[in-house]
Amino acid sequence: MTAERGRLAAVIGAPIAHSLSPAIHRAAFAAAGRDWTYAAFDVAPGHAAEALAAMRVLGIVGYSVTTPHKEAMAVLVDEVDAAAAALRSVNTVTQRPDGTLHGASTDGDGLVGSLAAEDVTLDGAEVVVLGAGAAARSVVDAVGRAGAGSLTIVNRTPERAAAAAELAAGATVASADSVEDAVRSAAVVVNATSVGFGVKPGSDEPLPVSADWLGPGQVVVDLVYHPLDTPLLRAARAAGAGAVDGLGMLVHQAALQQQLWTGELPDVTLMRAAAEAELARRRS
Ligand code: NAP
Repeated sequence: MTAERGRLAAVIGAPIAHSLSPAIHRAAFAAAGRDWTYAAFDVAPGHAAEALAAMRVLGIVGYSVTTPHKEAMAVLVDEVDAAAAALRSVNTVTQRPDGTLHGASTDGDGLVGSLAAEDVTLDGAEVVVLGAGAAARSVVDAVGRAGAGSLTIVNRTPERAAAAAELAAGATVASADSVEDAVRSAAVVVNATSVGFGVKPGSDEPLPVSADWLGPGQVVVDLVYHPLDTPLLRAARAAGAGAVDGLGMLVHQAALQQQLWTGELPDVTLMRAAAEAELARRRS
């Protein structure tokens, strides 16, 4: 542990004030007895290269990267992992001891990890992903690698769905006529659209798919975590389906970031508790 004293990691993005990453990462560093500081830097659009230069000059070990720098980072770092290469998007930068800047994308594997923690098996499962934006693309990539038996993408804009389908072998795009059947027969339905984001807690609308299509034996995951209990998750529970919230993906992807920086996977349960406490603090 001595060699790790006084190390620095940070989240960079714009805006950054509402990021949950500081609460999640600081809790894990503290619990592991690591003398690490985790900062939050508001880095204006177009300044990702300067943020990387600062990393080298200041000896910063890791960045969590969020909007709007993920795509720029994928081009600017020295090397990228397979997910970041496929997505052309980096959410984690690690400065190696030799100064090499390594880019990774932990979002999709975070989702897979959060499902494994709930004993949800993706290997061979029929999976439907709603959405084709940045979050959906990371999910398609990771769920494909996790061995989904079928992977169907549903999105308002078909062209974006087709582009997302290219990320996983065998993934298909649902036509307007086939959406209902695909959702009804899916074992796992992942909402990666922003539908439900920011709705008043307790509201039953809007839903990204009809509640009538959900039922027992299914697991419904909502990546939206503001609010944490979304209209879709309530509809899923009411229909007898399992419901997994978006905080799981957030904390699992953060845990994978710390593993890249420190070499050890932190306590995810503790990170989730820190995120929940921070959300509760903001509500009060
Ligand atoms: P994004 O790139 O802007 O993509 C948004 C997606 O939502 C697109 O597929 C878009 O469809 C769809 N959409 C938006 N409004 C819609 C509507 N009214 N009806 C139907 N579809 C609609 O955003 P993102 O970064 O992927 O984020 C998506 C959601 O995931 C956000 O709520 C975000 O907070 C959440 N998220 C959670 C985590 C986590 O760790 N839990 C991580 C990342 C993101 P079109 O393509 O047709 O525009």
